[in-house]
Amino acid sequence: MAGRRIEIRGTVQGVGFRPWVHGVARCAGVTGRVRNDPRGVTIEAFADEDVLEGFLEQLRAGAPPPARVVELRSTPIPEVELDDFVIESSGATGDKALSISPDLATCTECEAEVLDPSNRRYGYAFTNCTRCGPRFTIATGIPYDRAATTMSAFEMCPACRREYDDVEDRRFHAQPNACPECGPSLSLVGLGGDLDPATDPVGATADLLKRGAVVAIKGLGGFHLACDANDAAAVQLLRERKHRDEKPFAVMTGDLDAARQLAELTPEEEVLLTAPERPVVLVRARPETGLARDVSLESPLLGLFLPYTPLHHLLLAAVDGPLVMTSANVSDEPICRDNDEAERRLTGIADAILLHDRDIAMRCDDSVVRVIAGTPTIIRRSRGFVPRPFQLARPVAQPVLACGAHLKNTFCIASGDTAYFGPHIGDLETVAALDFFEEAIDRMQTILGVRPQVVAHDLHPGYMSTRYAKALADSVQVGVQHHHAHVASVMAEHRVCGPVLGVAYDGTGFGDDGTSWGGEFLLCFPNRFERLATFRPVRLPGGDRAMREVWRIAYAMLHDAFDGSPQIDSLPLFRGIAPESIRIVSQMIERDLNAPRARGVGRYFDGFGSLALGRPVSTYEGQVAIAWDHMASDEACDPYPFALDRSTSPMEVDLRPAVRAAFEEVVSGMSPAHVSARFHNTVVTVTVEVLEALLAELGRLPVALTGGVFHNERLAAGVAENLRNDIRVLRHGQVPPGDGGIALGQALIADAFLGDKG
Ligand code: ZN
Ligand code: ZN
Ligand code: FE
Repeated sequence: MAGRRIEIRGTVQGVGFRPWVHGVARCAGVTGRVRNDPRGVTIEAFADEDVLEGFLEQLRAGAPPPARVVELRSTPIPEVELDDFVIESSGATGDKALSISPDLATCTECEAEVLDPSNRRYGYAFTNCTRCGPRFTIATGIPYDRAATTMSAFEMCPACRREYDDVEDRRFHAQPNACPECGPSLSLVGLGGDLDPATDPVGATADLLKRGAVVAIKGLGGFHLACDANDAAAVQLLRERKHRDEKPFAVMTGDLDAARQLAELTPEEEVLLTAPERPVVLVRARPETGLARDVSLESPLLGLFLPYTPLHHLLLAAVDGPLVMTSANVSDEPICRDNDEAERRLTGIADAILLHDRDIAMRCDDSVVRVIAGTPTIIRRSRGFVPRPFQLARPVAQPVLACGAHLKNTFCIASGDTAYFGPHIGDLETVAALDFFEEAIDRMQTILGVRPQVVAHDLHPGYMSTRYAKALADSVQVGVQHHHAHVASVMAEHRVCGPVLGVAYDGTGFGDDGTSWGGEFLLCFPNRFERLATFRPVRLPGGDRAMREVWRIAYAMLHDAFDGSPQIDSLPLFRGIAPESIRIVSQMIERDLNAPRARGVGRYFDGFGSLALGRPVSTYEGQVAIAWDHMASDEACDPYPFALDRSTSPMEVDLRPAVRAAFEEVVSGMSPAHVSARFHNTVVTVTVEVLEALLAELGRLPVALTGGVFHNERLAAGVAENLRNDIRVLRHGQVPPGDGGIALGQALIADAFLGDKG
């Protein structure tokens, strides 16, 4: 006889892992115990040496999805005589931080049961098991068991209870276990017009959708607004009612085959679409698919996702066609949560609401993922990913709350050697968003069992997240520079402690000199940075208005490049713009009135894109930049000329020669595809040249690419490919490159900063 302690880390809690281990152990004739611990799962196993070896082999070979073993460590321990192999409750082990898993998409077994007329859960929208179902969104506290979820209101019937208590059952300790006898139920409620109570709410909803209605649907982490994605009138109606200008809607298809009809999917994209996290995946739309044009308008990218609850499976089967499924909110407000609130806020937007009586404890929007230059990259990290822990390279000295940025806000809590992102909050522009932010921080602190005294925030004094941090009594507050935080987030993802040469390209971020940065080359350490290079700033005439009216940026670029007298008459871009407006913008620049300077590389994408496409307005952030990325031709072409001023500190990239060259090409009628290709090539070349010049002085260092501009496929791929291949390039994957990812970096910088001060 021999004994082993086996420590396993990975996604191994709340996913049926212990029962699986139990089954394997019993079959193999191993005695001992398995339990959850703060870091994963610990097994103590006793048997003959060769039996134990076989047992370890089986554990290594892999658990059923969605469990995922990342690390398995085995150490010999003295043998103990036991009769049996048991699952120990995790009640006594203290730290419950990890016991709540993210929400998991319906597993294939549950899906089959729901669609099987002979099963007792046939047609039941709340079917789940240990491998699937709601988790984070129903958790009200710790430890994670039924009493601390919004399922506590439902008492299990004897049949469900038997499953729950049976260690051999797939529903052993599945906290949200339910059936039509005992669990939550659906109801369809009309908003405005009258609607007869439906005995079959799913069927009635499908009928409404097929007749062109907009129906709000309560889901896991919030409500969706749904309509028939092939019905042009319905999609247009939804767009009008939602006040959503041109931003693409996400589309849910019944299965992967249906998704393939709408987009050209790579194998990686198919993996993402079918993963248990079920994010919205941004993919390349096929032309002429029958989808209403208004779904994504002119965007080359389409957001697709597959059903992730039994309700979605039932609904998509009943409708038998793709559905628009967009977050149920008005413009940029947070997603709805409560039934009453939804009825109130969605009246006038939806014709009816498909409700259920299981409360949502924590709002959690759909996550968004995109394969960027070969790397699956989380753009919006929320449902399915939250609250999955990040393993830190080294533990924080004390728990830290990092408040994130202003737009696309997420916050982060670091404690010990792990960090947790909160759900996607959105833009902190409304009272409702701020309420959600505060409530979510409070809830996360409760389920993690920590109340951090250290609070990290952006340097921007106007961000609501900064104001929130500064108003926290009895806390140690640490301001963190925006782009330093961006770089630290990539470093954290790769568990690199620095130093790293970071390239942070985004639209805007508060510099430590009070001006707007966003084209930064930073030598980053965990606790500080040195700014080595940046971009010559462009003016933003009218401030924020220039982000929308991007022609203003194009004009400002030309004004700068042609020493104050650009010849714009020959440019199509300015033909539709009133001469008076142009004159005012020109004066703003010349008199330095409300025309702040911004170094954001994103602004150059806006300006060049607007110029070449003749597009004066961007109706949502990045609209012009995205169109511009995708239209670039694949021809081999030289970069535009540019200058690098090494006499300044930081040194400065000057794109005025590129502006002049692009101007000549646009005037002479070169295609936008060509101008785009050259512009992208220019930014790649600039980036690589500056990096190599800096590395020549600094010696060998990893390079980190971060900031929302690195959503750009050509830029990300171009820089990675063109750098000398002995340079290690760190890119985002699990942490968003944009402002939704900076909270992690903020937390680690604050910790390192305080650690230094002792
Ligand atoms: Zn299941
Ligand atoms: Zn039941
Ligand atoms: Fe940023």
